[in-house]
Amino acid sequence: MAITTIEWTWRRLPEGMVIQGYTFNPWWGCHKVSQECKHCYAEGIAARYGHRVWGPAATTARRFFGAEHWREPLHWNAQAAREGHRRNVFCASMADVFEEHPAVDEARIQLWRLIEATPWLNWLPALQWVICGGESGARARPMWPAWARSLREQCQAAAVPYFFKQWGGRTHSAGGRELDGRTWDEMPPAGPVPAMCGQTLV
Ligand code: SF4
Repeated sequence: MAITTIEWTWRRLPEGMVIQGYTFNPWWGCHKVSQECKHCYAEGIAARYGHRVWGPAATTARRFFGAEHWREPLHWNAQAAREGHRRNVFCASMADVFEEHPAVDEARIQLWRLIEATPWLNWLPALQWVICGGESGARARPMWPAWARSLREQCQAAAVPYFFKQWGGRTHSAGGRELDGRTWDEMPPAGPVPAMCGQTLV
């Protein structure tokens, strides 16, 4: 994994400079646990690469990576320290880091240690930041405004930053990204925090 084009991982400095983020996956694979997982984009990507890693622990393995893959964030951390600008990392775009699967326990511990060892990286979170967006793609299901508003209100009540990513549709930009007449681009505070999964929140 490397520099990502995913815009919500970018940091915009006050003077206008954009600091692009990275993606990092401790492993690939997951198990669908609810209706919201129905169109999991990560499952489709894994299948296209020929990896059968979506399913229950009893019947499905996970895809793991070697030492060079795990060293990459250390390089990013060193680069960020040299430049004096923290970098965001979208962690586990192809997995759920909190999944209950016996094969991932060791990699999960390795991930927590990696996060501690990379203080110049912002490991992007689920619990300290909510990214809300509708599904995109040929089979995208509609997203109701009440869902986005409810999430926003829950975030405001809990003082959690809220980022409205997209309404969705055939393409990710088809429906735009304004909610109630404006965009919602709140960001989490800088600092190392736990990770997120590939779920599209609706
Ligand atoms: S990665 Fe997230 S959306 Fe995909 S199956 Fe796992 S929990 Fe569901």
